[in-house]
Amino acid sequence: MMMRMKLQPEAIGSGMTSQRVRDRLVERLRAGTGNGEGIRDERVLNAIRTVPRHLFVDEALATRAYEDTALPIGHGQTISQPWVVAKMTEAVLEGAPNKVLEIGTGSGYQAAVLAALGLEVHTVERIGELLRTARKRFRTLGMNIRSKHDDGRIGWPENGPFDAIIVTAAAPALVDALTSQLAAGGNLIAPVGGAGSQSLMKLHKDAEGQITQEVLAPVVFVPLLSGMID
Ligand code: SAH
Repeated sequence: MMMRMKLQPEAIGSGMTSQRVRDRLVERLRAGTGNGEGIRDERVLNAIRTVPRHLFVDEALATRAYEDTALPIGHGQTISQPWVVAKMTEAVLEGAPNKVLEIGTGSGYQAAVLAALGLEVHTVERIGELLRTARKRFRTLGMNIRSKHDDGRIGWPENGPFDAIIVTAAAPALVDALTSQLAAGGNLIAPVGGAGSQSLMKLHKDAEGQITQEVLAPVVFVPLLSGMID
């Protein structure tokens, strides 16, 4: 307890999680990173600058929160790499959405970035404990995000259709139930593939309901699993 109280002001208050460190991450995203081109959408960069990512990881990892890397969040899951969050968020915004569905709440960071953009966010998580922690973070930040403990492969039919859908865990193929809950004019962004190699896919549904698909980037996500656990 004593140790914690001593360490916190340095680790959290001024040093590795300061606004300056966050700004540096934003500049790195703008320039582009190892796995992809730069992020150009200023709204997205601003949201990344605003949302305190260090509050979405364990205190022991807070000093690494503004590195452009995925980090463990327990239960074998990870908070996504900031570049991937930014890339997915850019693709979500293309359809000028209002109501967005996320599958795989995890830490809650991606949902918080979407909420910071003024979107109405719905998010589904299969691991109860992760969802409870994420909900506490939303409350602390005063973010009004709708969430549900469920197997997200069924989507959230009662609240659909959604102007955009973002899946943050990888499946061997796009999930039909989710595609059917996507509104006309919207994008569904999802990693598709096995454990080794995945592609971040963008599925677009046009005004007539016609579907086109595009590969955005190679990515590595944890798998989309079935069922729920406490
Ligand atoms: N968007 C998260 C990323 C978390 S990792 C973030 O910003 O932190 C992916 C998450 O998807 C994990 O928490 C995992 O439990 C969850 N997940 C995997 N399969 C799922 C399913 N069928 N339904 C809902 N969530 C699922």
